[in-house]
Amino acid sequence: MVYLAKIFKLNYIFSMNKIMQIYEKLFEFYGPQHWWPAEDKEEIIIGAVLTQNTAWKNVEKAIQNLKAKNLCSLAAIFEIDIEELKDAIKPAGFFNQKSIYLKNISRFFKEEGGIEKLSNFQTEKLRKKLLNVKGIGKETADSILLYAFQRPIFVIDAYTKRLAERHKLTEKLDYDSLQRLFTNNLPKDHQLFNEYHALIVKNAKEFCRKKPDCKNCPLKEFL
Ligand code: SF4
Repeated sequence: MVYLAKIFKLNYIFSMNKIMQIYEKLFEFYGPQHWWPAEDKEEIIIGAVLTQNTAWKNVEKAIQNLKAKNLCSLAAIFEIDIEELKDAIKPAGFFNQKSIYLKNISRFFKEEGGIEKLSNFQTEKLRKKLLNVKGIGKETADSILLYAFQRPIFVIDAYTKRLAERHKLTEKLDYDSLQRLFTNNLPKDHQLFNEYHALIVKNAKEFCRKKPDCKNCPLKEFL
């Protein structure tokens, strides 16, 4: 029993070190990423919905359209005719679905009294509320919690899964297991989680693409 506990402890220390070392290496290589790229919290929430299944450059075009029409706020999205909303967010793709999801989230914030009132909720309760909104899955809810509400919730996306898989960080690659892996092996600090997620995305775009460029990647020593 004592032996097993020792092994567990060693594994834990190893994986904690590795998770933290990966972060340190990425930060040393790229520096701060200044995420989320948005002017305010409402823009973060809108962007978190728009970025589902699409590249960020497409989201930027949709956000620009919304801004040009004075629609880049939850109140404006709640009020606007859905056809006009669809037209503005077309560059982000899946605009029929996403217009409904944006309407849903804007109604949610209106009914719940806005960002300030929702800030009073504990993280788990707030997460449950967000997940009850149709169109808001775990990744979107966690992005909103981390970047708009500054809660220490680690966001898992396809890039995080790819990193964990390629570096054999864990056997279980489902959302919750990956989230536990990072959360349990890092200090619970929203700024660290913010930066780490942004750095994983950056590295995936630079080197850890579908066809990885391990030879030039800052994380090659961790393979
Ligand atoms: S490119 Fe290679 S070394 Fe870099 S993160 Fe991906 S798998 Fe790891």
